Amino acid sequence: MDQQVLSAELAFRPKEITASVSGIPKPGDQVVASTAAKEKHETRGKKYAPKRSPKYARPATEHLKSPSNKEAPEQKEIVVHEWSDIPGPLHEAVIASLKEVCHDIDTLARSGYKVREMTQEDLEGYSKCMNCGERKRVLDTKSKTDCFYHPVKRNHQKKQYKYPCCGKKQACASLPAHVYAPVQDFLLQNWRNYRLTPSSEPGRCRPRCVVALDCEMVEVEGGSAEVAQICAVDILTGEVIVDKYVVPSKTVTDWRTPWSGMSQRLLEEMIDAGKTVNGWEEARKALWAHIDPDTILVGQSLQHDLDIMRMVHLSVIDTAIFSREAVAKDCKQNWGLKRLCKQMLDRDIQQSRKGHDCLEDTMATREVVLWCVRHPDKFQEWAVSQRASMREADAHRKWKQKESDNAQVKQPRESVSQVLAE
Ligand SMILES: [Zn+2]
Ligand SMILES: [Zn+2]
Repeated sequence: MDQQVLSAELAFRPKEITASVSGIPKPGDQVVASTAAKEKHETRGKKYAPKRSPKYARPATEHLKSPSNKEAPEQKEIVVHEWSDIPGPLHEAVIASLKEVCHDIDTLARSGYKVREMTQEDLEGYSKCMNCGERKRVLDTKSKTDCFYHPVKRNHQKKQYKYPCCGKKQACASLPAHVYAPVQDFLLQNWRNYRLTPSSEPGRCRPRCVVALDCEMVEVEGGSAEVAQICAVDILTGEVIVDKYVVPSKTVTDWRTPWSGMSQRLLEEMIDAGKTVNGWEEARKALWAHIDPDTILVGQSLQHDLDIMRMVHLSVIDTAIFSREAVAKDCKQNWGLKRLCKQMLDRDIQQSRKGHDCLEDTMATREVVLWCVRHPDKFQEWAVSQRASMREADAHRKWKQKESDNAQVKQPRESVSQVLAE
């Protein structure tokens, strides 16, 4: 097919109507709205269903309404969106354009992704210098060999902002080499569990080409994080391929409900409903059943999701990196998923006070990446506008700094006189 035509066709239409349905409308669903609902929808002039209405339970919790009707289970109320549908003939073109924007291995390593299963040398690379705190970083050979440091450390509890040794920010001592401390055992143990995504075995279902992934995490004993929910969606078909709650292997010390949407009660309900797997290893297995090393995984700051499941995967589009690099190759700022959705798609997500909805976030990530590759011109326009507002913010910050510097010059005399007056 003609490439020109294809890229024009890539800008296919989103679905126009949604009705109150139970469950997130999947792309390609025949969603029918009544005429009245349609009129109401049109008069509001919105491309998607009005905020917070109609409300519905996510599919996973839907059938859990207890027959005894004691109290409604912890259902998350989220907005009905319609998600893009990609007609079959366009699948190949979408795959091709997504392949083009996968990150190279250096970008992934720089962004904190594990880029290979850890060798002993890699593990040692994580040891930190006792003097300057620099990591040995075998994975990244760019680290400096000379050690610049302050002999006396700051006491953060005492809110010491200056170094007691010299009162300066810049290091006041140097050594020709770093002095590395051994890496803690629990970290080594954790890192030894990292595995590359296995190739698909014969007899298993065909691996998906492009998959959006999102995990929710909770804090467990010892202060580390564990996966508590995993959602994966086929980007081409919009099909939900994994939607599982995960029973953490250790005791949960913080459910992080405002972000994770998880709670003891919800997890118990999910166990009763048979919607759980045990621990990160089973969660990883559930995902591995649908992917192989060539599957493009898409996610927002996906390194955290891969880390939580000890995964090494190299075909990745991270919407955080993708958007950041579009603004500027060396841009340090990150755009969160909520902001990307609002700015790019004019869509509100994460509206529920009960925490993020994993499936909604996964669907939203899918939508963002599709928008970026299908509307490269609009994506560039977005990047230009972000550059402009960053420059504006920077100018404003400098002006503010100048103001406060000027104020500080006058300040000491005033405060001295205040002290004297008291
Ligand atoms: Zn010093
Ligand atoms: Zn050092």
